[in-house]
Amino acid sequence: MMVGCVAAVSYVRVGPVLRSPAHPRLQNCKPQWTMLCMQQQKQENTWAQMLVRAFREASATPLPLLRQVADAMTAEMYNGLASEGGSQQLKMLPAYVENLPTGEEEGLYYAVDLGGTNFRVLRVLLGGKQGRILKQEFEEVAIPPALMLSTSRELFDFIAREVVKFIAKESDDFKPHSLDVPEIGFAFSFPVLQTSVRSGVVIHWTKGFKIDDAIGKDIVAAFQESIGRLGKRIEIAALVNDTVGTLAQGRYFNTNTMIGVILGTGTNACYVEQADAVPKWKGPIPASGQMVINLEWGNFRSPYLPRTFADEEVDRDSINPGDQCFEKMISGLYLGEIVRCVLVKFATDAVLFGGSVPLKLLKPFSLPTPAISKMDSDDSPELKLVKIVLEDIFEIKNSTLEERKIVHELCGIIVERGGRLAAAGIVGILQKIGRAGSRNNGTPVPNKVTAVAIDGGLYEHYAQYQAHMHAAIVELLGENAAQSVVIELSKDGSGIGTALLAASHSQHAKRHKQ
Ligand code: ADP
Ligand code: MG
Repeated sequence: MMVGCVAAVSYVRVGPVLRSPAHPRLQNCKPQWTMLCMQQQKQENTWAQMLVRAFREASATPLPLLRQVADAMTAEMYNGLASEGGSQQLKMLPAYVENLPTGEEEGLYYAVDLGGTNFRVLRVLLGGKQGRILKQEFEEVAIPPALMLSTSRELFDFIAREVVKFIAKESDDFKPHSLDVPEIGFAFSFPVLQTSVRSGVVIHWTKGFKIDDAIGKDIVAAFQESIGRLGKRIEIAALVNDTVGTLAQGRYFNTNTMIGVILGTGTNACYVEQADAVPKWKGPIPASGQMVINLEWGNFRSPYLPRTFADEEVDRDSINPGDQCFEKMISGLYLGEIVRCVLVKFATDAVLFGGSVPLKLLKPFSLPTPAISKMDSDDSPELKLVKIVLEDIFEIKNSTLEERKIVHELCGIIVERGGRLAAAGIVGILQKIGRAGSRNNGTPVPNKVTAVAIDGGLYEHYAQYQAHMHAAIVELLGENAAQSVVIELSKDGSGIGTALLAASHSQHAKRHKQ
């Protein structure tokens, strides 16, 4: 869709109350609170509403703040490109993707997409410029939680078994195109320092994974060894970040695609950069003169980010405290958890749920983001969906309408902040490459349409998140410039795009041509 057609939203005054760590007002206001509670016995939720208002102000993302966030993102991109370790936040990793797909690719290719909670195995039959994607099939497999904290051998043995099973199940439609040695693209959505398109070492884990022995190891070799242990020959033709897969799928259908973004369990982005704008790159300049750079923007942080006490708590109790600040404010793994932390605080301080904290509310990550999206979309006068979610997840059976209104509002505040900050990140990249009337960075490229391909369950399924994001992009760029930005849902882009990259980097196709 063109974002230019989305109406802008207006904002209330931004205030630092409830922001952490400078203004932990919730913690400091008990005496005043008790007095107010006594005074307002008949208006039992008035104080709660005041707190919600304060929380809204602390979470606010008015245009000037978004501009600062976008500018900080652009500045960090420059730092990360300048030298290895030039930015403490953005790794700005060259993706070693030499050939983005052109549409000419032909044949049967596979992809493995290891994202967050699930991984997907896909097969895609490509028919060249005319046929494009002739057929595709995929299977999704839940990753057993124990494997997320196990050893690299256990993880890759599990994935290899699933891949081998999937390939063995080829239906007749695909069989005539099968190669002796199937080629797969491997989308691995964690920070990896690549050394070629077929090798890379894990830098650190995110999104709830923690497999210590994998750090510093070549994951392609580890995966290939697991496949070998099963006595199979399968070639990994390309190792790609899921953002790069998304960009590749975007490119395949729209040559204006310059940016790939993931908004799912976690979040990240990549973009197409001029190779001579990457001072830290010491390798040969690619023939295209361009490189794909993976920002690893989940680790972006800035004093302008409107953090609250709930963000502090989510971070403190996470398995990677201090890391992935941006991701913890805008991505699917965390939005529900932020809401839960605020509800615990409100319940503990006797503002919600009758003065006692429901036990189930205390369980970390018990409120998944799809549940807050369900509550957020509830427009029934009685807030029936909110009631159902509170009952189903927290066993809160007697919620009042006032309480449900507060929960509903909190969901809205947190998702609005998430969507708008994601928009600031995207505009930060547009500024870096001088697109869409960028104000102060990059060399402006006038009147050029720029497409942004986005994949991920959060963006795809959470309509309000999408709407807030689009509105903020329009606010940041202005109506006119926003007309030249196209935001495209690149559904399953990380998987299909990765199969496309396996095709465009295929060893078999190369041998065939020789
Ligand atoms: P991954 O990021 O693990 O590769 P996805 O792109 O499918 O996987 O994203 C899954 C994430 O998307 C979930 O963890 C959840 O946070 C979010 N999500 C899925 N469905 C919804 C929904 N209906 N509303 C809001 N968020 C959703
Ligand atoms: Mg994914």
